[in-house]
Amino acid sequence: MSGKEQHYINEAFDTNWIAPLGPNVDGFEASLAEFTGARHALSLSSGTAAIHLSLLMLGVRTGDCVICQSFTFSASANPISYLGASPVLVDSEAETWNMCPGALEDAIQACIDSPDSKKPKAIIVVHLYGMPAKMEKILAVAARYGIPVIEDAAEALGSEINGKKCGSFGLLGILSFNGNKIITTSGGGALLSEDEQLINRARFLATQARDPAPHYQHSEIGYNYRMSNILAGVGRAQMQVLEERIARRRWIYDFYRELLAGSEGVSFFPEPKGSYSNRWLTTILINPEKTGGINREDIRLALEAENIESRPLWKPMHQQPVFSHYPFFKTGVSDMLFEQGLCLPSGTGMTNSDLDRIAAALKKALNF
Ligand SMILES: *Cc1c(COP(=O)(O)O)cnc(C)c1O
Repeated sequence: MSGKEQHYINEAFDTNWIAPLGPNVDGFEASLAEFTGARHALSLSSGTAAIHLSLLMLGVRTGDCVICQSFTFSASANPISYLGASPVLVDSEAETWNMCPGALEDAIQACIDSPDSKKPKAIIVVHLYGMPAKMEKILAVAARYGIPVIEDAAEALGSEINGKKCGSFGLLGILSFNGNKIITTSGGGALLSEDEQLINRARFLATQARDPAPHYQHSEIGYNYRMSNILAGVGRAQMQVLEERIARRRWIYDFYRELLAGSEGVSFFPEPKGSYSNRWLTTILINPEKTGGINREDIRLALEAENIESRPLWKPMHQQPVFSHYPFFKTGVSDMLFEQGLCLPSGTGMTNSDLDRIAAALKKALNF
């Protein structure tokens, strides 16, 4: 926390705005829209809820196909299943680790050419670890087939492509303020769009689909997905330290990169030209053929022995027991990333002496 959260929470209590609406909700939404450059923002109870509402509004229903990046956290794909639709999983390219535009096109074509000829209803692209996906190419493929794009920017608040913020490229963009993200409301999310009608529709669905009537009347199934005015107060204070947090995360990435610069077999994840990553997590790849046999698991366990937590990269959806039977369009990149990749401790709460301790453990694990 930044220290300023209590101010907004107290204000909510003092004015008795303890509800999923109120001045903090309005203030948080306005600051999200201003920061991301998206015209409209709607705060919600989670990023997952934002994806679920996005798919609902795009008319996804039982039997439909939705394209989803395979290399992601399961929350990107779960809402497809909530609606009885099927994910079609698309592998990554090596430069950004996100959806490969060529594999995306193959996937769309295969859906259209299948016996029941189903054009996918939506494309869910993710900016994993804060690294922007190749949006220009992905949007071009999507436009050619007339398929709307949902941009999962849960890990990429503050990341940019040529100065334009992630979350503002797709028809709909989603953010997360879960506890592990770059800023947090302890739990929460948001939906971003240029399209006011879509945001109004999402607000309606997220507020139990209550019709405008003096009594409670419902013509549609609704959801309880709004963010509370208390949590939005936390969000308002967190927005004030977002730039600082991004600067620190980027500093941590540079720290590790310099530390391991001379280490054969360890590679970093450079930003392609024009891209700016919030460096949510610092990730490295460890190629055991070049480290003298030391692999990702050796390093993870060596760190763990010193009470330092690190973690393999996301296990791709096509390798998950719950999604492995769905169609998958492979490049081989996400399998390699899962095998060789490690997320290093990246929290902005770490002190420089924490980082020195990690540095010593990493050098020892890598024998240099
Ligand atoms: C965290 C996350 C989500 C889900 O957000 P919640 O707010 O936890 O529901 C979705 N996609 C990705 C890539 C995430 O990292």
